[in-house]
Amino acid sequence: MPELILKPGTLKELWLLPPAPGGSRKYLAGGTDLVSGSNAGMDASQVWVDISDIKELKGIRETKNSLIIGSGVKISELSGSGLISRWLPALRSAIPHFASPSLRNMATIGGNAATASPCADGVCALCAERADVWLELGGKKRKIALQNFFSGPKKTVLRRDELITAFEVPKWKHAGVYLKLGPRAYFGIAKASVAVALELDGEKVRSASITLASVSPVPLMAVKTANYLKGRVLNYDNARTAAALVKTEVSPITDARSEAAYRREMSGVLLERALNSVILTGRMSQVAG
Ligand SMILES: Cc1cc2nc3c(=O)[nH]c(=O)nc-3n(C[C@H](O)[C@H](O)[C@H](O)COP(=O)(O)OP(=O)(O)OC[C@H]3O[C@@H](n4cnc5c(N)ncnc54)[C@H](O)[C@@H]3O)c2cc1C
Repeated sequence: MPELILKPGTLKELWLLPPAPGGSRKYLAGGTDLVSGSNAGMDASQVWVDISDIKELKGIRETKNSLIIGSGVKISELSGSGLISRWLPALRSAIPHFASPSLRNMATIGGNAATASPCADGVCALCAERADVWLELGGKKRKIALQNFFSGPKKTVLRRDELITAFEVPKWKHAGVYLKLGPRAYFGIAKASVAVALELDGEKVRSASITLASVSPVPLMAVKTANYLKGRVLNYDNARTAAALVKTEVSPITDARSEAAYRREMSGVLLERALNSVILTGRMSQVAG
C-alpha cells in the first residue's frame, strides 16, 4: 500500500496537488485492479490519488451527436442508463459479461481503459462503438481515438500523471452485440471476446466495426473483416466468410487461460455467432437515429 492517499473533490484541486516524490502518482478509481495488484506486491507507488469523488468524472450525458461517459462511471451505472441502452448496443451487451454484479458496482470504465488489459470487456465494446477518449493533464485536454490509446499489454499512451476524464461516443444508428468465451459465467477472464457494431441499410451492411479482446496484445480492430462486410448483404454465408477472415487477423498467445490455436478458432466461432444473432434480431433492434 502507498504511504499517502490524497482525495481531491474537483479537477481543479487535483491539478493543484504537488508532484509525487520519486515517481508518478497512481489514480485510485474503483480499486478493483489497483488494490488487488497492490496486495499482490505489484504496485510500488508511494502516492495514490483517490479520484472517486471528483464530480467532473461522473455521469453520462448526451450532446447533439454523441454520448459523453465520465471515466468514473461504474460498470453497473452503464447497465442502468437509458442513454447507453438506446445508443450503444454493443456496450450494453458487454455488461452482463463483466465480472460479477458486486464487482460491477465498484469497477469504473476509466479504470478498465487505464489498466489496458488485452481481456478488458468494457473498452473492447467501446472501441467497436467508435469511442474517443478524453485525457487531461494539468488542465490541458486532448482527445484521441480509443483504439489508439493502447500501446501494448498493460501499456497506454497516457503521459505521467495524465488522467482519463471521459469517453465520447458518436450517436449512430446501428445494431450491436458482444460475445465472450470464458471459463464460467461470473469472474471469468475471457479466452476470447468479440464486439460487433453494424450499420444496416435494409439487408446490406453500410458500415461495420469489429473488435476482439484476448486474442492480440491490445483490443484488436478487425479492419479487413469489417471491410469485407461493408456493402454486402448480411446473411449466413457472408457471416461464415467473415468468420474465416477474422481468424487471419487475430494474433493470440498460449497462456494459463487458453491455447493460441483454440483462441484463433473461437474468434471465428464468436464472430459468426454474433453476426448470426444480428441477422436474427439486430435488424429489428437497431437503435433509432
Ligand atoms: C475478480 C476480478 C474480476 C474481474 N473481471 C473482469 C471482467 O470480467 N472484465 C473486465 O473487463 N475486467 C475485469 N476485471 C478487471 C477490473 O475490474 C477492471 O479493469 C475495472 O474496470 C478497473 O476499474 P477500477 O475503477 O477498479 O480501476 P482501479 O483499480 O481503481 O485502477 C486501475 C488502474 O487504472 C488507473 N486509473 C483508474 N482510473 C483512471 C483514470 N481515470 N485515469 C487514469 N488512470 C486511471 C489506476 O491508477 C490503476 O493503474 C476484474 C478484476 C477482478 C479483481
